[in-house]
Amino acid sequence: MDSNPDAGSEGSEMVKVNLLQDDIEARVAMRAKISSTPFTRLTKRQPIDIEFSDLTYTIPTGRKGSKLILRGISGQFRSGELTAIMGPSGAGKSTLLNILAGYKHVGASGQININGEPRNIRKFKKMSCYIMQDDLHQPQITVHEAMCFAADLKLGSKVERREKLSTIDEILETLRLTKAKDTVTERLSGGEMKRLSIALELVNNPPVIFLDEPTTGLDDLSTVQCIDLLRSVACGGRTVICSIHTPSASNFAKFHQVYVVAAGQCVYRGLANGVVPFLRHVGADCPKHYNPADFVIEVSSGEYGAEYVERMMNLVEAQMPIDPIARKTIKDTQFQDEIDRTTWWDQFSALSRRLMLQFYRNRNYMYLKISLHIFLGFIVGGIFINIGTDGSKTLFNFGFCFCCLVVFLYLPMLPVLMHFPMEVRLLKREHFNRWYDLGPYFFAKTLSTIPPQIFLGTIYLSMVYPITGQPLEAWRAARFFSICYLCSLIGESIGLAIGSTLSIVNGMFVGPASSVPLMLVSIQGMGNPEPLPLYRTLVMYSSYIRYGLEGLIISAYGEGRRKLSCPPEEDYCQYRYPIALLKVMGMEENMFWRDFIALVGINIILKAVIFYLLRQRLRPNKTFQALRVIGGFVKGYISLK
Ligand code: ADP
Ligand code: MG
Repeated sequence: MDSNPDAGSEGSEMVKVNLLQDDIEARVAMRAKISSTPFTRLTKRQPIDIEFSDLTYTIPTGRKGSKLILRGISGQFRSGELTAIMGPSGAGKSTLLNILAGYKHVGASGQININGEPRNIRKFKKMSCYIMQDDLHQPQITVHEAMCFAADLKLGSKVERREKLSTIDEILETLRLTKAKDTVTERLSGGEMKRLSIALELVNNPPVIFLDEPTTGLDDLSTVQCIDLLRSVACGGRTVICSIHTPSASNFAKFHQVYVVAAGQCVYRGLANGVVPFLRHVGADCPKHYNPADFVIEVSSGEYGAEYVERMMNLVEAQMPIDPIARKTIKDTQFQDEIDRTTWWDQFSALSRRLMLQFYRNRNYMYLKISLHIFLGFIVGGIFINIGTDGSKTLFNFGFCFCCLVVFLYLPMLPVLMHFPMEVRLLKREHFNRWYDLGPYFFAKTLSTIPPQIFLGTIYLSMVYPITGQPLEAWRAARFFSICYLCSLIGESIGLAIGSTLSIVNGMFVGPASSVPLMLVSIQGMGNPEPLPLYRTLVMYSSYIRYGLEGLIISAYGEGRRKLSCPPEEDYCQYRYPIALLKVMGMEENMFWRDFIALVGINIILKAVIFYLLRQRLRPNKTFQALRVIGGFVKGYISLK
């Protein structure tokens, strides 16, 4: 018998260590298995090789003229390979990715070939996706829900739900997101957010994936996982191109190809393990135990002298010619060439469901809005209490109508100015990656905003209407309410139109500032019996508030309303006869339906304007491109002054 108690514990320690070792080996084997057989469920796609030559990109910079950001660079990225675009900050990595992915093309020149043929941008977009540096995700939904919506939008109803769910499970498992499946996107860690961005794009398996600095901001472990994942995605036959900022030596070795950019020029292209011999060749010997990735960036940023950069450029030109890629013409039916868009209805229904879910998740915000409308109902009702039946306060009642219009301009507009610019950024990305068209999004968005707006309007109006003593006749109330609804929808549309073009900061200024003249011109000439000159009348009717005011006043006082009571303490009630008020306001003709139709028309026109502005945001035409260039020029000019 063993009398030494230590021997027993030592033995169990040994067993523990062995078990741990076994566990690690099992995990490594599993990782290798995942890397070699990634994503068995995804649709097979044709391999895509990208070649570009003499790519130049210039941007105008105010008085100085223009700035050359890419200086005629060439290269090729092959399918089945993970390529890193490296370089010091400001070298032009993001710019190169933007141009190759087709995200930017104004100011770019040069030749880009896809599988040996000139790139057709429309066709290419159907085969590629671009994951940008900052991760933007739809708020208020969980990882699994985000994946399901992505699958519904990209795969449509042709693919069965069961199949979609197993594809999603496989992707989440491979990207180690299964544990975060039920986490809301806003609460994900940086690494999880990045992996979710990749997971969302993998749903329809695009053959080309561009990523801008996918590892920046991630911790070491997340970085390793992210690069392993990208490598396994590439090994599955896709072309994966990512820009990266000084990877560790072990991560650097995982890239199949490296493309180094410095000051807009290529200073190295080739295998990752060819960097050190290349640098030795130009006279910059990488010290032992030094990270070659750090070293190549240091040399290319000119830290050891500009002559090395010069030599690197010359050597690339002389010794690294771009050989045409030997390509077997694969005409196999198992490959689906382009990724088709799903039907209009599939997109519309998925987007509507997503908007409704987000609305439901964000219900506290709705409760806040309801409370605010009730609060305002009490305040406005209290200020104008019982003035509707009082013949001595008819003019105050005009003030009440105006106040309602102001409420229905600002309350719907301000939240939209805050939210919409962010939503447009998301729309831009999802649309660029071809998740959906603008049409279904626009209709889903428009339809989803109308019911809450009407609901909130009803809460406010059903308080103030009786409190302020407005006529309790159903048809008058219906007219009054409907004019208010139309005006609140216009207020919201103004917010959407501004938010679709301007940033939050600019929009928050422009929105309220531009609504002031709208209010002022609507009441010009009131109280003055002289008719207005034509030009002032035209200006007056250019404001929708004028139609709103007329509609409300006529609903309350028009169409033969009887004379109002004059309180005994008043000697004389000048406007106790409703017609007297209508006369002084210039509204004695019954123009309710004209105003109603005008407001409906303005709503429709504004919706068309929003659609047009969003379209220009997504795909600017020549005029908008020119405006953007002029804007950039003016900004540059002002900042130089
Ligand atoms: P990085 O390699 O860090 O991704 P970028 O491609 O983002 O670099 O930018 C390359 C260079 O172009 C930088 O010097 C940047 O300042 C400049 N640049 C990019 N966009 C603009 C712009 N709109 N106006 C002026 N300079 C710009
Ligand atoms: Mg960048």
